[in-house]
Amino acid sequence: MRKPFIVANWKMHKTVDESVKFVKAIRDQLPDPEEVEVGIAAQAFSLYPMAAAVGKSGLQIIAQNAAAEYSGPYTGEISLRGLHDLGSRYAMLGHIERRRLFGENNAAVSQKVKAALQIGVTPIICTDETMVQKEVNGEIHYVFQQLMSVLHGVSLDQIRRVVISYEPSWAVGVGQHANATLAEEGCRMIRRTIADNYTYEIADKIRILYGGSVNPDNIKEIMAKPDIDGALIGRASLDVDNFLKMVNYAKNEEAQLAKQAPSKKK
Ligand code: PEP
Repeated sequence: MRKPFIVANWKMHKTVDESVKFVKAIRDQLPDPEEVEVGIAAQAFSLYPMAAAVGKSGLQIIAQNAAAEYSGPYTGEISLRGLHDLGSRYAMLGHIERRRLFGENNAAVSQKVKAALQIGVTPIICTDETMVQKEVNGEIHYVFQQLMSVLHGVSLDQIRRVVISYEPSWAVGVGQHANATLAEEGCRMIRRTIADNYTYEIADKIRILYGGSVNPDNIKEIMAKPDIDGALIGRASLDVDNFLKMVNYAKNEEAQLAKQAPSKKK
């Protein structure tokens, strides 16, 4: 069974002091890390003090970005070697804002993903593409060009360690209601793409998160979808009470039962 993974993306919000206070406020109220994994992607300068504050909670402290190079003359970049040394197990790579505002392209994200895998940091690969339908021999195929381009050169062994986040551009940061049906469809198609390009066994195990306007009111419906294994949450994750409600969504029995039903459509 794929372990649910709820990730906050704090973007360029919160000072070090605010970040550490937040961790201290939530650390004793998180779900059992054996059942639900929880992480916060924070600004680079907050990662170390936050990591020191997580205690035994199992909270993952996640980088929002990292460079493909481990060290050297790259002013202003964030080193995966440094992140690994700090104990950060995950780095979010290729977020839509990195792509839109800082010109990151597929080739750059791909280099970062491979560098992360090589040093032992799990990439949370963000993909924001809109599915393209293509007819091949009378059959409709969904093409995830962006994702497959980023995964170019990622081996069968490495792909098992990747987390994918599906964040369609129409849903991120717009405050609209997330559409759980479309979110599920996107995640299901990504899983099918992984099955087609790697194996069914890998596709069945890989975790796919959905991101875009998730909040305490819609998280249960989203997490109940069979191909959605977690959520990447922006605005709604900035508030302690909202965040605790969302990470503890699984206390809702219905969502848990639905989650246990295996994904039928591949
Ligand atoms: C994000 O930026 O990753 C995100 C999902 O934002 P929001 O939840 O605010 O749509």
